[in-house]
Amino acid sequence: MKRFKHFDASTIEEAVKLLDTYENSSYVIAGGSDLMGCLKDNLWMEFPEAIINIKTIPALNTITVEKDGLHIGALVTLTEIAECESVKKTWAGLAEAARRTASPILRNMGTIAGNICQENRCWYYRYPNKIGGSIDCVRKGGKRCLAVPGDHRFHSIFGAVSKCIAVNPSDTAPALVALNAVVTTTKRQIPIDEFFSAENGAGSTILDRNEIVTKIFVPTPVENAKSSFIKIAYRKSVDFALVNCSASLSYSDGKVTEARICLNGVHNNPRRCQDAEALLIGKELTEETAQLAAEAAVADAKPLFQNLYKVQLAKTSVLDALIGCAK
Ligand SMILES: Cc1cc2nc3c(=O)[nH]c(=O)nc-3n(C[C@H](O)[C@H](O)[C@H](O)COP(=O)(O)OP(=O)(O)OC[C@H]3O[C@@H](n4cnc5c(N)ncnc54)[C@H](O)[C@@H]3O)c2cc1C
Ligand code: SF4
Repeated sequence: MKRFKHFDASTIEEAVKLLDTYENSSYVIAGGSDLMGCLKDNLWMEFPEAIINIKTIPALNTITVEKDGLHIGALVTLTEIAECESVKKTWAGLAEAARRTASPILRNMGTIAGNICQENRCWYYRYPNKIGGSIDCVRKGGKRCLAVPGDHRFHSIFGAVSKCIAVNPSDTAPALVALNAVVTTTKRQIPIDEFFSAENGAGSTILDRNEIVTKIFVPTPVENAKSSFIKIAYRKSVDFALVNCSASLSYSDGKVTEARICLNGVHNNPRRCQDAEALLIGKELTEETAQLAAEAAVADAKPLFQNLYKVQLAKTSVLDALIGCAK
C-alpha cells in the first residue's frame, strides 16, 4: 500500500478542517472495513494524501430512542443496531438488515454511516491495481463500462446511471429508505430518498468531499406499522446481497395506509418501488395484493443477458418483505 498521512480527529470541526486542508485528497475512516480495501487495491484515480480517523471523536457512537424516533450516531456499529432491543421491537427491518450484513467481526467494526457510504463492488472497478494495473472504466474516468459487454451477472437490472451499471451493495440502505430516515451531516439534513447518488464521481452518495455524516434519524412509526428486511445472497454470512428488500407498512382498519418498499442490489442507487407502494394503499395485504405489488416492482426492469435471474429474485424479495409486514 502507498503511504498516506493519518490523523486522529478529536472533534468534528477538526475532522472537517483536515478534509478542507487536504481538499480532494483525503477520506474519513470509521470502521475501515470498506475503506482499507479501497486503499489496498488503489481503487481511486488519485491515491489519498490523508486519512482522517473519526473514531476518536466522542459522542458519535450513541444510539438513543426518543419520543420522535431513533437517533443513531454515525459511529454506531452494525452489531449495536442488530442487538438493540428497542430497534428490534420498533424498527425490525433495520435490526434485521444490520444482522444480515457481512459477518460478526465486520459488524463489530462496521458503522452505520460507513455502511451507507461504502463504494460499489463491481469487480472491474474493484480490480486490484497491483495485478496488471487499473481497469479504467467510466467510473474511473475511462470511456466505457466493462461490465456491459463483459460479466454483469451481479449488476443492475434497471439500467445505467451515467453509463455505469454497478449496484449499491448496502444492506442497511434499503431499510433506512423504507423507514424514511433522515441523514444529518456537518452541512445539512438529507432525507434518505435524496442521499444516494452514483453521479457524484467515485462514491455512492451526494456528500461533498468535506462533508461528514454525524447522525441518522429514523422516525417513530405510527401505531399500526410493521417493517421487514429480506436478503438473498449465495451464502448466509459474509456475502453481499444479490438482491435485498425492505418494506414498511402502516394499517388502519385492516387496510394499508402507508407503504414504503425499497429494493437494493438492483440498481446504482437503492430503488423505491413506488408503483408497488401505490398499489397497496387502501387495500388489505393479502397474498394476491402482495403478489401484484411484487410484480409491479419489477415491471420496468431492463435486465441484461446474464442477470435476468435477478428479476425473479427481486420479485420474490418484495413479496417476502411484504409478507414480513403482515399483521
Ligand atoms: C468481506 C466483506 C463483506 C462485506 N459484506 C457486506 C454485506 O454483506 N453487506 C453490506 O452492506 N456491506 C458489507 N461489507 C461492506 C462494509 O464493510 C460495511 O458496509 C461496513 O458497514 C462499512 O462501515 P465502516 O465503518 O467499516 O466504513 P469505512 O470502511 O470506514 O468507510 C466506508 C466509506 O464511508 C466513508 N465514511 C465512513 N464514515 C463516514 C461518515 N461518518 N461520514 C461520511 N463518510 C463516511 C469512508 O470515507 C469510506 O469511503 C462487507 C465488507 C467486507 C470487507
Ligand atoms: S459497472 Fe460501473 S464500475 Fe463497473 S465497469 Fe461498468 S462503469 Fe465501471
